[in-house]
Amino acid sequence: MWECPSCRQRVEDRLETCWKCGTGRDGTPAPVDWADEQGVDGEVPFAAPAVSESQGVLPYEPVRRPTVPPVVKAVAYVFLAEGIVAAIHVAWAVYRNRLSINPGLLAVPICFGLLRLSPAWHAMTLVLLPIAIFVCTGEAILSYGLAWYPFRSILIAFAVVSIWQYRVLSRPAVRAVFERDNQGELK
Ligand SMILES: [Zn+2]
Repeated sequence: MWECPSCRQRVEDRLETCWKCGTGRDGTPAPVDWADEQGVDGEVPFAAPAVSESQGVLPYEPVRRPTVPPVVKAVAYVFLAEGIVAAIHVAWAVYRNRLSINPGLLAVPICFGLLRLSPAWHAMTLVLLPIAIFVCTGEAILSYGLAWYPFRSILIAFAVVSIWQYRVLSRPAVRAVFERDNQGELK
């Protein structure tokens, strides 16, 4: 056995280069494409001049960003679309000299929070969605007393979309993605 001069890995005598980082027995740095040759997926080799652990510096660890599941992306982009509609609504009201506060604007930061896999935005979205569903359904039902109410179908559509979003975000597999990120990034 010999000790790798770069990463201090114990390496068998039959090997001429460190199996972990590619450094040669005599200290020759690993070739640039060493990781590709080894089929190491996305891992950056501990290149030759790396400071060893014994010197008090942790070896370089490649950061892996968890991927956003496509279904979460779909939910996020629907939020973005809703946020844009809300923004247009607010802009239109301002144009007509009326101050309008539309809680739908929250959909924009929610979109980016979900795309970042933010645990806080995920938790808040799971609280806000049932409120939105309740308010929209309630308003749609109450509006049946009115002879003409053009927003009823919009409210119902919004409630149905929100129920879909809630069901996606509350799936155990989707919850797990946000929890994993919580451990990995906010440490
Ligand atoms: Zn090594």
